[in-house]
Amino acid sequence: MWSCVVAPKAALFQCTQNSRSALWRVCFAKPRFRQKNSSLRIGCADSRVPANQIVGLLPGEMFVHRNVANVVVHTDLNCLSTIQFAVDVLRVEHIIVCGHYGCGGVLAALRDDKLGMIDNWLRHIQDVQSKHRAHLDRLATEVAQHHRLCALNVIEQAANVGRTTVVRDAWVRGQTLTVHGWIYGLRDGLLQDLGMRAASEAELAACYAAACAALAAEQPVAER
Ligand SMILES: [Zn+2]
Repeated sequence: MWSCVVAPKAALFQCTQNSRSALWRVCFAKPRFRQKNSSLRIGCADSRVPANQIVGLLPGEMFVHRNVANVVVHTDLNCLSTIQFAVDVLRVEHIIVCGHYGCGGVLAALRDDKLGMIDNWLRHIQDVQSKHRAHLDRLATEVAQHHRLCALNVIEQAANVGRTTVVRDAWVRGQTLTVHGWIYGLRDGLLQDLGMRAASEAELAACYAAACAALAAEQPVAER
């Protein structure tokens, strides 16, 4: 297993030693090892939520984009380019925005922490927070609000994926493409489908409304 968390120099060296044995034997040693992506996953940069492992896929089986708090912004050329390449070139059939409960980026946004440059990025989460202010204000504790904002953020970012020109154009030309919103539980290791499952522009609006309504009806996490 890799162990790059502590003792930076020694651990990083250990990483370089292990990276070949861990991955190379499983995948890269196979003749004609190529990508076979049927999906693009947009997830958080948090090292506790490794893209492939939480869904049980090997290298080569899922295209991945990651950033702090799995945000999809319509001016982020990095994310947009990844989506465009995945849809137009790799012809993926699924785009999954996969957030996670306990997200530090979401908590920093909720608390309005001052952390530097990252504050500008987290403004996008605070926009989600403002949009759902009435929903969040009904929750009594910060724990409950944090938990709920993690889920609301996934729904909003999945909706943003569906509003990109790349995805809308794909739907217009009849390409098979479904946008999903999932969230991962660090405590239980379970993936939850938040009900965002849109295969057309019309479905996007309907499932967005349904997903938000379902969350609003959910029992707050602190009371469970
Ligand atoms: Zn996170």
